Amino acid sequence: MSDWLDQNDVSSLKGVGPALAQKLARLGIHNLQDILFHLPFRYEDRTKVTPIGAIQAGDSVVIEGKVVACDIAFGRRRSLLAHFQDSTGTIALRFFHFSKPQQTSLKNASFLRCTGEARRGAAGLEIYHPEYTANPGPLEQSLTPIYPVTEGITQARLRNLALQVLAIMEQGKVLKPLGQDYTALSGTDINSAVKFLHSPPPGVNIEALRTGMHPSQQRLAFEELLAHHLTLRLIRRESQKLKGRKFGQPKQLYQQLIAGLGFTLTGAQVKVADEIATDMMGTAPMLRLVQGDVGSGKTIVAALSAIHVAENDMQTAIMAPTEILAEQHFNNFTNWLAPLGLQVAWLSGKLKGKKRQEQLALITSGRAEVVIGTHALFQKDVHFHRLGLVIIDEQHKFGVHQRLALRQKGEDDGFLPHQLVMTATPIPRTLTMSMYADMDCSVIDELPPGRSPITTSVIADSRREEVVSHIEQACSQGAQAYWVCTLIDESEVLQCQAAETTAEQLTATLPDLKIGLVHGRMTPDDKASVMNLFKTGKLNLLVATTVIEVGVDVPNASLMVIDNSERLGLAQLHQLRGRIGRGTNKSFCLLLYHPPLGITSKERLNVMRESQDGFFIAERDLEIRGPGEMFGSRQSGAVEFKLADLVRDSHMLTEIRPLADTMLEHDPVTAKALMERWLMSPQKLSQV
Ligand code: ADP
Ligand code: MG
Repeated sequence: MSDWLDQNDVSSLKGVGPALAQKLARLGIHNLQDILFHLPFRYEDRTKVTPIGAIQAGDSVVIEGKVVACDIAFGRRRSLLAHFQDSTGTIALRFFHFSKPQQTSLKNASFLRCTGEARRGAAGLEIYHPEYTANPGPLEQSLTPIYPVTEGITQARLRNLALQVLAIMEQGKVLKPLGQDYTALSGTDINSAVKFLHSPPPGVNIEALRTGMHPSQQRLAFEELLAHHLTLRLIRRESQKLKGRKFGQPKQLYQQLIAGLGFTLTGAQVKVADEIATDMMGTAPMLRLVQGDVGSGKTIVAALSAIHVAENDMQTAIMAPTEILAEQHFNNFTNWLAPLGLQVAWLSGKLKGKKRQEQLALITSGRAEVVIGTHALFQKDVHFHRLGLVIIDEQHKFGVHQRLALRQKGEDDGFLPHQLVMTATPIPRTLTMSMYADMDCSVIDELPPGRSPITTSVIADSRREEVVSHIEQACSQGAQAYWVCTLIDESEVLQCQAAETTAEQLTATLPDLKIGLVHGRMTPDDKASVMNLFKTGKLNLLVATTVIEVGVDVPNASLMVIDNSERLGLAQLHQLRGRIGRGTNKSFCLLLYHPPLGITSKERLNVMRESQDGFFIAERDLEIRGPGEMFGSRQSGAVEFKLADLVRDSHMLTEIRPLADTMLEHDPVTAKALMERWLMSPQKLSQV
């Protein structure tokens, strides 16, 4: 009975034909168990009608009332705006996509029930694209789960499928507790936990669900973290059974690069470079993580490893998360390696046609010793030539599956390429051990000498004018500055708009400065050319969204303003701030916030003022927030969990680590079932 759910296909459910089955497969859903583990990521309360007068921005609500006016509004974008009223107040319904008949029917609606999320807009409180009906049925009996979806699958459909499976469970076809039963841990068993999460009864505190601390969530989070840990440990075991290319000692080119650098490697860089070289001289494929704060000089360490590989007549592939960063690496590596007679190839999504063919030929023929690129390195027509080492920069931007896929691509003749992962995300040590449980870890715990510390100030945005004139002064004396516009909303569109507006305003206020703009919705070409202007000193001020967060190196930039800094995680603030203080100029970081500032936020921003040590900042961040608060690995982008949160659930990790190793040793069948249940088996991951 217990295996029934994962042995029956989704097509056994009502309403699931081949087309839908195919779409479900895209979400990783194949059997009935998969449906249960496709968990909601939030909930809405549609069990009651909210009086319009009581709505606050951010609330998800059901409202009932009538339309009192309905007109087309001409703003930045044309929209249909309906004013909707009950006895307690009025709210605006806004539609960016609408038809003439829709406009007419809305105009005449004397009664509607609407569902949606209220936000602050141009017309006061607004709901964008509410669901609405003139003939509503009874209100929902339980909280409404909201699932991750893909094109062509609606929320309603997923809800329906989940309810069908829950009904089947009522007939005794239930989930098997895998491994030891973790019921004691949370006081709830796997079957009730799953049922609860797909259909939380009314009256459950929606806020408690939001924090992920409900026993049902904790019960499943434990399993998910265990499955994740099992996967990483299994990867490690498997890869240690495989052969790696065993290299000789680094030779002349390696020494030549060091000698020609124009600076002396720090002790930490030498130590880590040695650890890597030693790994690659062994028989097992290297799996090593290099952690080093922003500016600690990870790139040169990567370059040394690549030379070591080239000296053994093999190729190195380096993957960076953004075009900007890949291009910067390409320039650095070319500067370092070309004088030694080594060829660097370059691949990105924007590279097309003949140029792309040229680069592909360099790669396939093995004429390029080093290949640098973005995700484009995964594409089918990329064939490496004797790939000896895969380097992944800024790992937190990539998932485990990408790491696996790239390595698998390089598997050759039973040999696995060595793998080096570099990250500047300062995460507390306890978390590193879980996020990277498959790897050995090196830390570059020393910054190159001669960096002047950054002075950080926390300033209310009411003093914006002062800040602007400070920038004017500094830039007129040759300094370069960043102005970072952060998330003012979850939507990238709005973030880019904010950056555009800021750039316009600053350009008007500071006519003597040359001001550029980069944001995520620009083409890679445009982005790169603006970055280049800034890098070569042709711009004084760069207005940017957080796209500049990762890795960008402009040593002359010594000033940074961060808007709405209170909304960012400390890890991200630290990353951003790491863009300055790279040269010899005295550097300043101004963290603007919008008052009033809560106690926790104040304390957090103060940490930024007091310290420049990424690891210290990460530890303090964890302390101040404490487990149980919304935050976490999701924000730093580390691992995509459905439900678990490495930070919030860190208290589980000490138990999970030994448990995973015991299971792999003594009960591999259950371990495998658990990984499958959470869609985490190494095979599945590498196919994503
Ligand atoms: P990150 O670790 O953030 O990737 P980078 O590798 O980009 O840091 O290095 C930051 C800057 O420091 C670069 O301009 C690099 O050339 C320089 N650098 C690296 N190592 C040293 C060193 N030992 N001494 C002086 N400058 C160094
Ligand atoms: Mg870097």
